Amino acid sequence: MSYLWTVTQQKRLSELNASETQKDMSFPTLIAREAAFKKVELLLIHEGKERLNKLRNETRRPALCELEARLVNALTGIGFVQVTTPVILSKSLLGKMTITDEHALFSQVFWLEENKCLRPMLAPNLYYILKDLLRLWEKPVRIFEIGSCFRKESQGNNHLNEFTMLNLVEWGLPEEQRHERIAQLAETVMETAGIAQYSLEQETSVVYGDTIDVVHKEIELGSSAMGPHFLDGKWGMTGPWVGIGFGLERLLMVKEGGQNVRSMGKSLSYLDGVRLNI
Ligand code: ATP
Ligand code: MG
Repeated sequence: MSYLWTVTQQKRLSELNASETQKDMSFPTLIAREAAFKKVELLLIHEGKERLNKLRNETRRPALCELEARLVNALTGIGFVQVTTPVILSKSLLGKMTITDEHALFSQVFWLEENKCLRPMLAPNLYYILKDLLRLWEKPVRIFEIGSCFRKESQGNNHLNEFTMLNLVEWGLPEEQRHERIAQLAETVMETAGIAQYSLEQETSVVYGDTIDVVHKEIELGSSAMGPHFLDGKWGMTGPWVGIGFGLERLLMVKEGGQNVRSMGKSLSYLDGVRLNI
């Protein structure tokens, strides 16, 4: 007979970002389990406090902010222009993405009032801005935004209601180079995030049709799309393009070996991945 952690103990260990090995421990007796729990909890609390101390004493910033800064540097370094657009989105712009009542994503939208919502994605705003930039600038036009997006999710380890999206778009590249370019841009982001192990997988998206996802061990880190695309016409645009959207909290979760995105996101319970009730 061997004993595993109780449900309550499991939950506490997850909050404290215990490793898989720590979470999978088993014990010959109940007494051994209780003793081990105290020990592991103390160790994790100690690690959490150390991390908080670093934040304070080494003028570090939360991992989410540091990753954002590194991504801004990496992307501006290869010719992408940063843009920053409103979090509040009109229903009509959402409709232009074909996200209307019948759409799977529609029920996940947070409405503020009848015709305004919190953006569930950055793409409609990027389309909107690109339309002008393509008139003003020579192609290729490269832009990106990093900012909060909001979706009602039935919570799990990989989903937040408020998460941080990086969406980059390159408009006006030779059509035959699109696949290769997606691979290059994914590599830039993954290298910046410090994730060596990932793969590109063909998927079907409810918004974009066929997409190539960036995946780490079954976890989707990013989704790419390319044009010419049927949505382009709604903005009066045509031409080849590529784009990828990444979730920063998922990148951090994978990079830091964490168990859930919650500890990495904007939070009242966590600071820089450390649960504050320690
Ligand atoms: P999933 O299928 O995992 O719910 P998705 O395909 O709906 O994700 P996309 O619309 O492709 O997500 O968004 C691009 C990226 O944004 C995803 O690859 C993921 O990294 C991140 N992302 C999407 N939804 C969330 C969420 N609720 N919480 C955290 N990150 C998210
Ligand atoms: Mg996706």
